Amino acid sequence: MSSQARVRTLPIRLAPLAGESLDSWLFAYAVRLQTPLSEFAAATGLDDGFLRQPARSIAIGENLPDVAVTAAATAIDPVALNRLWSPLARYSRAVRGRFAGSILRNLVVPLAWSRFCPQCLATDGDRWKVTWRLPWHTTCPTHHGLLVDTCPACGARQRRLPLADAAVEAGSSGRCTGALPRAPGRRLKLCGHDLTSTPTSRGDQVAGALLLQRAAAPALAAGASDAALDAAVHVLADVSVIAAHLHSGGSAVVPGLGGPAELASSLARAWTLHGCSDDEGLASLVARDLAGGRGIMPASWRLAGPSLTTRVMRVRDASMRPTDRLRWRSTTTPRRPRPDGLGQSTARVRCCPEALWLDWAIRLMPSSGVSSASFRVMAAAALRLPGTTTPLGDLVAGTCHDGLGRKVSQALRAIGDGAQVFATLRTLTELADGLDAHGSPIDYGRRRQLVSSVELLSARDWDRICAHAGARTGHSRKLSNARLWLYETLTGGPLHSAPKAIRPHEDGVEVYHRFALRLPSRAIELLDHHGACVLANLNIDEPLTWSPPRDWVDPDGLPGPEPDGINPDRVNQMLHARVAPTVVATRLGISLDHLSHIVRRHPPEAHPRANASFRNRSPLPEDLTPERLRELVVGQGQGLRVVAREFGVDRKSIAAALEREGIPAGPAGRRPTAIDAEWLRAQYVDRSRPLPELAREIGTSTSTVAKAAKAYGIALRGPGGASHARNLGSPEPGLPSPLAEALAGEAGHDRVRRYQVLARCHSVAQAARVIGCIQATLHAQLARLERSCGALVVRSNRWHQHQRLTLVGQALLHQADDHLGRPPSAPSDLPEPLAAALASYGGDGRVRRFIEVAEADSLGQAARLLGTHQTRLSKQVLSLEASCGGSLLHRRTATNVPQRLTDLGQLLVQQATAHFRFAV
Ligand SMILES: [Zn+2]
Ligand SMILES: [Zn+2]
Repeated sequence: MSSQARVRTLPIRLAPLAGESLDSWLFAYAVRLQTPLSEFAAATGLDDGFLRQPARSIAIGENLPDVAVTAAATAIDPVALNRLWSPLARYSRAVRGRFAGSILRNLVVPLAWSRFCPQCLATDGDRWKVTWRLPWHTTCPTHHGLLVDTCPACGARQRRLPLADAAVEAGSSGRCTGALPRAPGRRLKLCGHDLTSTPTSRGDQVAGALLLQRAAAPALAAGASDAALDAAVHVLADVSVIAAHLHSGGSAVVPGLGGPAELASSLARAWTLHGCSDDEGLASLVARDLAGGRGIMPASWRLAGPSLTTRVMRVRDASMRPTDRLRWRSTTTPRRPRPDGLGQSTARVRCCPEALWLDWAIRLMPSSGVSSASFRVMAAAALRLPGTTTPLGDLVAGTCHDGLGRKVSQALRAIGDGAQVFATLRTLTELADGLDAHGSPIDYGRRRQLVSSVELLSARDWDRICAHAGARTGHSRKLSNARLWLYETLTGGPLHSAPKAIRPHEDGVEVYHRFALRLPSRAIELLDHHGACVLANLNIDEPLTWSPPRDWVDPDGLPGPEPDGINPDRVNQMLHARVAPTVVATRLGISLDHLSHIVRRHPPEAHPRANASFRNRSPLPEDLTPERLRELVVGQGQGLRVVAREFGVDRKSIAAALEREGIPAGPAGRRPTAIDAEWLRAQYVDRSRPLPELAREIGTSTSTVAKAAKAYGIALRGPGGASHARNLGSPEPGLPSPLAEALAGEAGHDRVRRYQVLARCHSVAQAARVIGCIQATLHAQLARLERSCGALVVRSNRWHQHQRLTLVGQALLHQADDHLGRPPSAPSDLPEPLAAALASYGGDGRVRRFIEVAEADSLGQAARLLGTHQTRLSKQVLSLEASCGGSLLHRRTATNVPQRLTDLGQLLVQQATAHFRFAV
């Protein structure tokens, strides 16, 4: 049997018992074969060294070679063989990891020796269970007696060392294998006490100990999942921590393991406290540490798993400082805060504005005790705390919170009763968790830098915004307030941390709030747009404003109201009726902040005469952009009067716009240079038309045309002359009225042809583009046509309305089409609703935008694609719907349902797509 190469099946078979330890089975086998361990090792393909290891190492399979030979020799399935050691090895790894560095590991790491149940040994023969090596396994689940630690005769611990050959020879069978003291040179003598006769005791603790053992059983189960193992190890950690506190009279010292009786009793009590639904018992243990002033969560509780930590923090919560409660997340799922250097909390700082988002401030704001402005600032500073041990001073360095320090704790404690403070801290913690998980689309840190480095709003931009909003521009204070408004919008910061140039003084704050509440909706829209442009110019691709979504936070128990729970129409009605904002807020039982939030979300229509500072002036239309104005005045040489009439605004507004945009205006719009030399030559020389007619046609004086002619070297004819005669015939016979009259007279034919185009356009401006002449010419020709017909043919078109033909005008159009044919340059007749849509103010652009809207899932998405604002887009769609006489969109009813087009909307999109395809 000396050669390992010749392994054969052993003559005797010995199957392992359920729950038996690997060392037990191997030793029992050797005893049964009466073979010294070295020979047994050779016969079973095991290394001699393996069997000479301490018994615990054998039990966890340390240095175990491949078991194939052993399995063959013993005729045991290799899987079953591995199951003798692998669960213990796996458990051992798990607890060594979980309990690393803690003295409590002595309660869980497998013992170097094995306890035993005398009755089990008596029943099973000399077979030792794997669980007997677990310190917390104190009681035999079969016999309900305490396990025994040592031999009652010699006091030796069993199964520490490999089995001595003497024990093999003796056939140990339940006898003590402890060595007796011997003289040098004498043979080893074993105690040999019959362990099966050891008396065992039972106590009150047995039931509790057994429950714990059952709960932790998955830790040793061969088929347990990783999660089940983890859960079992968590239970062991929690119970050990509690047991340690039971034992130590408040200190963090782990009990000396003591005997199984002592251990079983503390484990059983710990188990009861662990499972107890109220925290009273736990509270006394925790309170002892608190009294000792050992910090928030003393090191002795460090091993506690999440649920026990939660309970401990719950006990301690009310007596902790608010900042510590935030750091520990004591109001949600408490966790030990970590010093994270430049980690998570720093990342979160960038997601935090300097003042808490207005909507969240409304939800959290206590009804009294603290001013809204300071609450928002403190709360925003507090958002940086959850989860970190970094001092607040470091977290808020470089922001307006610098130097707040312990004021944050004081302010948070002052906000109300315990429930209110709890709800506020919980919400702040959940918001911080949300920011960690999802981030914020806005980098507030960068925004703060931005506002100090760029001019937010130039005087000219503000003047332009006011002109388009129909509001008075006002003086420097108003401009400063507008800048402050942009500062607030872009940074979400408090007024007092605004750049010095625009920071309001104490009395200025109220003035600013009045300003903000009275801003006309169009001004808000334009300011928002301006803010978006500021970002775009800096290549910052972020939404203008943002706040964390509602569902990041548990809605229960918030002290304040829901920001959108107030009907904005009521607010706007009262503001419209010139009720002071503070009175409006009082009547509705809301804060001024809340009022501002509503106004910001639902801008009121302009307040007529609501406030002297926003007295109406006639607003510049949206499409009269500085570029357009320059083109009209400089490029086409139109006068103030013409432009003003064309856009339906007063001349003063146009003059102001020219001044603002630095556009040179000629003397009353008469600009000789605007008269084209070729045109003049063709009309005056080739076609022999008289100067006054040409002057009328282009809306200027005869002398201006004469000067121009002189300048171009065109010889002037004398007054009167034969040239008139050609066109002075009487009405052509046989033509219907009013066509006959319209065709009569100088250049009548041209006028009618142009009228056929003009009548098919929605404005003179459009007709001028189609024909390729200046608007003034068309206006003059139209006036002449109307004089010839003796009636209006086109109803005067105000800047925002489609022009309409009078009955005479319609008749003239039909007759002209019949007799002269349709001019090829006239726009084709459009089907409804496209015609109506295009005819509305700014219709072309709106219809094009609507095609984009139709393809998006929501207005919000479309707005992002188009680079505009949702409110603005939504308004445009609404006016388009008004023009088409019905709704075009089924709006979304829930966030996951895309919007759909109505039938009318589909028709419009079809027509518009076809129309634009041909138009291009
Ligand atoms: Zn037993
Ligand atoms: Zn003994």
